[in-house]
Amino acid sequence: MADNDLYRRRLVERLEREKADAHQDIARAQADEARARARVAEKAAAIERVLAAREPQADECKRCRFEFGRTSVLRPVPSKSKVARFQCSLCGDEEERA
Ligand SMILES: [Zn+2]
Repeated sequence: MADNDLYRRRLVERLEREKADAHQDIARAQADEARARARVAEKAAAIERVLAAREPQADECKRCRFEFGRTSVLRPVPSKSKVARFQCSLCGDEEERA
């Protein structure tokens, strides 16, 4: 029956396309997983650096010391209140100190 052969061939063709789509989904998922694993490793390394960082000096930017492992001395910036404001020239973080 030629009719059945054609039906069968078209069905197989459709299933082959769906199979190829599923393979592409796997490839995308594997790429996503690889990126996520790289982020996990990057964050784990960042945590280790924060834990290993020495205590910042009193006039030092905490963020630069803990997050970037570098020394930056805070500089005073104008303040409208009685609280003194300081800013880091490297990362831009601001701190208030009584
Ligand atoms: Zn800083």
